[in-house]
Amino acid sequence: MKSVSSQASRHELPDASGHFGPYGGMYVPETLVTPLFELAEAYGEAWADEAFHRELERQLKAYAGRPTELYFAERLTGHLGGARVYLKREDLLHTGAHKINNALGQALLAKRMGKKRVIAETGAGQHGIATASVCAKLGLECVIYMGAVDMERQALNVYRMRLCGAEVRGVEAGQKTLKEAINEAMRDWVTNVRSTHYVLGSALGAHPYPMMVRNFHKVIGEETRRQIVAAEGRLPDEMVACVGGGSNAIGFFFEFLEDAGVRLVGVEAGGSGISPGRHAARFEGGRLGVLQGCKTFILQNPDGQIDLTHSVSAGLDYAAIGPEHAYYRDLERIDFAYATDAEALEAFRLCARTEGIIPALESSHALAYTAKRAPRMSPDSILVVNLSGRGDKDVQEASRLIDAAGETP
Ligand SMILES: *Cc1c(COP(=O)(O)O)cnc(C)c1O
Repeated sequence: MKSVSSQASRHELPDASGHFGPYGGMYVPETLVTPLFELAEAYGEAWADEAFHRELERQLKAYAGRPTELYFAERLTGHLGGARVYLKREDLLHTGAHKINNALGQALLAKRMGKKRVIAETGAGQHGIATASVCAKLGLECVIYMGAVDMERQALNVYRMRLCGAEVRGVEAGQKTLKEAINEAMRDWVTNVRSTHYVLGSALGAHPYPMMVRNFHKVIGEETRRQIVAAEGRLPDEMVACVGGGSNAIGFFFEFLEDAGVRLVGVEAGGSGISPGRHAARFEGGRLGVLQGCKTFILQNPDGQIDLTHSVSAGLDYAAIGPEHAYYRDLERIDFAYATDAEALEAFRLCARTEGIIPALESSHALAYTAKRAPRMSPDSILVVNLSGRGDKDVQEASRLIDAAGETP
């Protein structure tokens, strides 16, 4: 590993222009530069204000269900026959995934900024539901942009958002999925920026979003640190998280970046194999580019056109990765691996069978890596997996795939 301490401290990143080394920044139309700097300033003031933290902590506990358990997966550990495996149970949070940490933080910030209207994009619908829920709770008007194809695939989630009072707007452009939904949300923001806050759903996009989203999620790692020390008297040997945009992973890892003895591993979506258009593993064939406000690793063709992506898990199915991950990969501080659709589905079933916990297909990518890795570690070593969400939303898709393979659960 290259020395992290010789670089800027994790607390000094990003720099004032939003860069993590060469990554990140603010690549947006001119009309958005001032609003982004205003947002960065408002966020900075809120983050320095103890009253804001007290309110956020109160709501994270009362509404979202923090702290979440750090759970020793005894039967999974026995089955794998190596490292002691712990699961950080973000799946137990209200609305079913880690996304509520960020949605709640940003919605409280919107209120503080006097914005009465909130917009967000969503792919699978998890971020849309988290945002719609907190807007209902805080009395904010809420509009969710979603690709028309995703709306059809995730009809139940669309209805959940509508039950919470959100307006869901279908986007008919391009592939009609997440990328187009983000474009529409940015367009809305440009037009309505005075009244509106854009709640971006991952550690992505233009500055200050990657920093802000990370900071709203770093509570995951802070709790994990206390909990593993209480349970085992020491830090883990390895920590594993799935990486879509990278918010659950950076939130989980951030508190451990300076602990050289803790290996950090991000797991991307290998889809149906590493060939163009068949996966969403940005570090397997992606290269430097700019997408939706941010310079980072992107899956693109030689002309810079964004590649199609594929993953069994909609939450990992995006062509760009959060800039902070690209930075720590260069420093060799975070290692990256990928799991295929088939491996993730197998791990999904294994977790359900051994622990009675049905994980999100996204989180199942981290479990798939764990299923390979833990048996190669000694029985006195400790591996912690961030279980970013629950799998209720994926049961129908899993049953379709398991049936198609001619198997039973
Ligand atoms: C959205 C989602 C992800 C991927 O997003 P990140 O920003 O990479 O965390 C992972 N797991 C679950 C359960 C999700 O809903």
